[in-house]
Amino acid sequence: MPTSVVADAERHFDATVETLVRYLTYPSISCQPENFADVRKLSEVIRADIAALGLDNARLLELDDALPVVAAEWLHAGPDAPTVLIYGHLDIQPVELENWHTDPHVAVRQGERLFARGSADDMGGWLSHLAAVASWFRVHGRLPCNIRVLIEGEEEIGSPNLERFMDAYPDAFQADVMVLTDCENPSTDIPGLTVSLRGLIEVELHCDALSADVHSGLWGGMVPDPTIGLCQLIARLVDSDGRLLAGRRPVTEQMRAASADVPLDNAVITAGAHLIDGVTPLPEHGVPAAVWMWRQPCITVLSTTLPAPGREKNAIRKSASAKLSVRLAPDQSAEEMFAALQQVVEGQPAPGGVRARLEMVQQFGSGWLYEPKGPAFAAADRAYEKSWGHPLVHVGVGGSIPFVALFGRRFGDLPLILNGVLDPLSTAHGPDESMHLGIFAKAIAANVYLLDELAKVGKAALRGEG
Ligand SMILES: [Zn+2]
Repeated sequence: MPTSVVADAERHFDATVETLVRYLTYPSISCQPENFADVRKLSEVIRADIAALGLDNARLLELDDALPVVAAEWLHAGPDAPTVLIYGHLDIQPVELENWHTDPHVAVRQGERLFARGSADDMGGWLSHLAAVASWFRVHGRLPCNIRVLIEGEEEIGSPNLERFMDAYPDAFQADVMVLTDCENPSTDIPGLTVSLRGLIEVELHCDALSADVHSGLWGGMVPDPTIGLCQLIARLVDSDGRLLAGRRPVTEQMRAASADVPLDNAVITAGAHLIDGVTPLPEHGVPAAVWMWRQPCITVLSTTLPAPGREKNAIRKSASAKLSVRLAPDQSAEEMFAALQQVVEGQPAPGGVRARLEMVQQFGSGWLYEPKGPAFAAADRAYEKSWGHPLVHVGVGGSIPFVALFGRRFGDLPLILNGVLDPLSTAHGPDESMHLGIFAKAIAANVYLLDELAKVGKAALRGEG
């Protein structure tokens, strides 16, 4: 009975948290070569733990010039049972220049939260599955489904080798349903199913006017200033709230309906985004916050050549440029957005007649828009109803998660269940990252029920053959 498995998971909850605390001591920062050894050490520790848990063939998948993927499986649930792939990542973001209140690599429990880099993103995510598996083994000696486990070591650098792993180890990815765990719940009481991501491109805006810097006292008043022109052009790209105008999507009833269940009010935004006293979230203008953050493009200034403090000189600089990152609507191509931006920058005279030009610097992950339907999602809703007392609410992610777009492209015909243990106060990628322990407990129980519910649906029905 899954309820006795959940009871076992509850009895072992403190031990599971201790395991998590142990993993969190490894600075498995995948963007810093000096930490590659830590990523490998943690991969080996997890591999050994998974083997001890009772999964078969626990191993490290290796490729040249890549950090390993921890892999294992258990395929003894019988020919009619579905195979569930569980994906997560063990690498973490760096902590440099962040103002942490505790040591980011020593987990500290304060109230209902566990603070440490990687706690919610993403070690608690995949560990919530392994804890569920451990309880199934302890209580029944078996799992209701076949499972495959994959824990990546390069997610935080954009999964640059994941597709190569898919090609080199196709068997390790063979499944009927995939549970990808690296996403957010809209609150500690409401579980989230992620169904959209925004894409990401980087562009550079150039303004040129002179072949040399010139004295502002001599020429100021009759010479175009590229620095001012750059600021004016950036302002031209946005509305009076500072929101990107180009490439905006019409707001559909479907978008509004999808965001109706999302508890994303000004209080959540103010706390989650660390707004200071007296500053409020941007006005909605009749468009729900969830639509602004998940379904519309947006723009951020990454860097500029504007004269820096300490480098002041009274001169009109000969040129200026800015690197801009642009989040794409989930169904928007990089080309469509670039053309829309180019129209604004180059399609009309530039301020002061400076020479303005837009350049595509890089295309990162594309957006992703998913329609969850079929028996796998009904099964997931039943599992979450039992553990959280609430079915999964469909949410988007404003960011770009390359592995999701990749799984979507390679395995989009399979049910992809995207969830995780993050919530709006987790501050993933920032100082004082934390995981809510109540969410962790509910995630473990949900994963216990999920295996049972997916087994009841059966492999044929999941594949649309039933
Ligand atoms: Zn993550």
